[in-house]
Amino acid sequence: MMETNQKQFEDQVLNCKDCGDKFIWTVGEQQFFHDKGLQNVPKRCKPCAEKYKAVLREKHPMNWIRCKKCKRKAEVPFEPKSDDILCEDCFKQEIEKRDKLIAEAGLSLPT
Ligand SMILES: [Zn+2]
Ligand SMILES: [Zn+2]
Repeated sequence: MMETNQKQFEDQVLNCKDCGDKFIWTVGEQQFFHDKGLQNVPKRCKPCAEKYKAVLREKHPMNWIRCKKCKRKAEVPFEPKSDDILCEDCFKQEIEKRDKLIAEAGLSLPT
């Protein structure tokens, strides 16, 4: 007997939004999308998706900041509004430290 609650995938032929070509959305890719909880069907073939991603990267350039804690240079995907900024590592550490302090104090995390 087949599992009824398991979604069965099969290759799908889709139309690329950009070049209009047909491309195959493979079972493997569908499984990947499913596992990631992605709902949207891909709109572009692989080459067009790559081009699209490159354009997005250009539109959202990474900015260099200097972390106020470790003084290292780091890249952030947003425009820094002040010098009061932490790199990703320090930011995570700060959050962890804060969470630990809150936990130690026996308080619950703000929701
Ligand atoms: Zn295409
Ligand atoms: Zn840092």
